[in-house]
Amino acid sequence: MTVVVRRPDPPERMCPSTPAANATVFLGMITPAGRVAYVTPQVPADVALAAAAGSDTPVEARYRLAGPCVTSSCGFWTGEHCGLGARMAASYQETVGPAEIELPKCAIRRSCRWFAEQGPVACPACSHVVTDAH
Ligand code: SF4
Repeated sequence: MTVVVRRPDPPERMCPSTPAANATVFLGMITPAGRVAYVTPQVPADVALAAAAGSDTPVEARYRLAGPCVTSSCGFWTGEHCGLGARMAASYQETVGPAEIELPKCAIRRSCRWFAEQGPVACPACSHVVTDAH
């Protein structure tokens, strides 16, 4: 008898900084101080985007949105990992150095591309990101 061992499909990774057109999750608001105020439990992007309509300011400048990582369709994809997440985590470590990290409560940690690849150091860097939708 032959035993076939099936590997589980890899989990779908979420991009924690995606334009509105690709968004499925409302991750949080950008505060006046330029930090992300994360929202939990998870809120669908559609709900937040409907509430954000009617402003001249691009929604990406006010909200942080998450959606499926599009890998090679994104300019930050290196072929193996997210180059933006890697760059931000490295920059955080250079400027802050080793420090105890308090993880913010965010709605996508289990599937987040940056957290999966960079670990906890991704999170304090993430909280300073405003998505460039251009
Ligand atoms: S980097 Fe951290 S805080 Fe940002 S979305 Fe991913 S898990 Fe959440």
